[in-house]
Amino acid sequence: MHKNLVVGAGISGAVIANLLAQIKKEKVLVIDKRQHIAGNIFDYKDDKTDITIQKYGPHFFHTNKDKIWKFLSNYTNWHYYKHKVLANTGKELINLPFNLAGIEQIFPNEAQDIKNELITEYGYNSKISILDLKQTKNKKIQILAEYIYENIYKNYTTKQWGKQIGELDNGIISRIPVYINYQSGYFDDKYQAIPSKGYTNLIKNLLNHKNITIKLNTDFKNIEEKFERIFYSGSIDEFFDYKFGILPYRSLKFVNKLLNKEYYQPSCVINYPNNHKFTRITEHKYILDEKSDKTIITLEFPKQFKVNQNIRYYPILNQENNLLYEKYYKEANKIKNLYFIGRLGRYKYYNIDSAIENAIELFLKL
Ligand SMILES: Cc1cc2nc3c(=O)[nH]c(=O)nc-3n(C[C@H](O)[C@H](O)[C@H](O)COP(=O)(O)OP(=O)(O)OC[C@H]3O[C@@H](n4cnc5c(N)ncnc54)[C@H](O)[C@@H]3O)c2cc1C
Repeated sequence: MHKNLVVGAGISGAVIANLLAQIKKEKVLVIDKRQHIAGNIFDYKDDKTDITIQKYGPHFFHTNKDKIWKFLSNYTNWHYYKHKVLANTGKELINLPFNLAGIEQIFPNEAQDIKNELITEYGYNSKISILDLKQTKNKKIQILAEYIYENIYKNYTTKQWGKQIGELDNGIISRIPVYINYQSGYFDDKYQAIPSKGYTNLIKNLLNHKNITIKLNTDFKNIEEKFERIFYSGSIDEFFDYKFGILPYRSLKFVNKLLNKEYYQPSCVINYPNNHKFTRITEHKYILDEKSDKTIITLEFPKQFKVNQNIRYYPILNQENNLLYEKYYKEANKIKNLYFIGRLGRYKYYNIDSAIENAIELFLKL
C-alpha cells in the first residue's frame, strides 16, 4: 500500500515525492491528470527539427540558493545559459531590464546628464522599481521614468494581466526593475542554466525511484484509495469545489510556427509591449543552443482564465484575491495530513527554485 499520495507531477510534486521515497524510504503514488510528467515545465523534442519545445511557455532556471542548485545537480547536468530579453516598443529594440545603455539609446544627447542624476540619486548598481522611479521629484529623471513607463510597462501590463497597473500588487511590476548599471542579462542570479537534456528529463530522474509509482491521465477526484498523507499541487479552490469562489488566474494561448530559416529574431525572447495582441515571441533553439536550418517560434497571447476551458498560468495577485486564498488555506489547515504545495496549491507566483524550496521546507517540517 502507498503511504503517500502526491497530486501533480510538476516540479513541486516531483521534489516532495523524491524526498519521501529517498530519505523517508516510504512508498509514494504520484498522479497527474495530464498525459505527461513535469507539469508546466514539460518540454519535448519537435520531431521535424529536433528542437526542444517548452509546451507551456519558456522557463529559464535561475537561483541564488546554493542548496537548490546542489540538490538539482544530483539529477541533471546543465547547459549554462544567460537569458536575454529585448522589448520591441514599435520604435526601437531595447534591452530588458532597462539599464544605462537604454538611456544612451533613447536619449543620446542628454544621456550623460540623466545617468549622472540617476547615479547621484540612487547609486551605481542599484535596482529600482519603475513605480518608485516615477515618484522622483527630479525633472530629468521624471522624463526618463515617464518614457520607460509608457513605452515598456504600461501597455504590456494591461495586455498581460487584463488589468491596469494600479489594480495589481506592486510586486508584480517590481519583478523587472530598472538597473542603474550596464547589466544586460534578464536575471542577475548566481546560477542560471537549463537542464542539458531538458526539464522533462530532470523530472523523470527525480521520480525514478523504486518507491515511486506514477499514474498519468488520473484525476484526484477519481482516486478512491486511502493514504496517510496527501500532497496536493493542484488548485486549492478546485479541491474545495469553489465553495468560497473561483481564484482568478491569467491564462495563455501559445501559437507555434515552424519557419524555414535558421533564425527569426536576435534573442530568445522579444517582448511586444505595444501594437500586437501577443505579449512576446520565443525562439526555442536559443535555449539549448540547438542547431537546425529551420526554427520554431511561439507567440504568446494572454487570455482570461475560465474553469475547465483553459489552463491556469499566473495567479492574479492583489489584496482581494489574496484574501480569498487565505479563506481556502484556513479551510485546508483543518484537514489533517493534507498539504497544499506548488504554484496552484499556494496561489503564488513561484519561480522554479522557490517551488523546490517550498517543497523541501515542507518535507523538513514533517
Ligand atoms: C508562462 C510561465 C513562464 C514561467 N517562466 C519561469 C521561468 O523562466 N523561471 C522560473 O523559475 N519559473 C518560471 N515560471 C514558474 C514555473 O512554471 C513554476 O514555478 C513551476 O511550474 C511550478 O511547478 P508546480 O509543480 O508547482 O506546478 P505545475 O507545474 O503546474 O504542476 C501541477 C501539476 O498538477 C497537476 N494537477 C492539477 N490538478 C490535478 C488533479 N486534480 N489531479 C491530478 N493532477 C492534477 C497538473 O496537471 C500539473 O501537472 C513560469 C510560469 C509561467 C506560467
